[in-house]
Amino acid sequence: MTIGRITINQDRCKGCTLCSTVCPQNVILMAENQLNAKGYHPALFVDPDGDCTGCAVCAIICPDVCITVYREAAKRTKAVREAVTI
Ligand code: SF4
Ligand code: SF4
Repeated sequence: MTIGRITINQDRCKGCTLCSTVCPQNVILMAENQLNAKGYHPALFVDPDGDCTGCAVCAIICPDVCITVYREAAKRTKAVREAVTI
């Protein structure tokens, strides 16, 4: 299982909604009640349950390169560690 998270550069975002549309985990929402410096409703990363997998689809589709993805492999369990080292 891979754990992911993203950051969104709110000031660069033009509110096109592409990232929120393609995210398979539905953890990107548009800030309906908030405007950035350009006057757009920016995208927000809302992932209280840690569902982001770090798949990076959002970053790839963003036309303004606003999204940075961080991905971390989950720690191996003891059983997997032992199987790998045998
Ligand atoms: S990395 Fe994948 S799961 Fe995470 S927010 Fe982006 S599209 Fe969604
Ligand atoms: S794809 Fe990029 S520009 Fe469009 S809403 Fe998402 S972060 Fe903003």
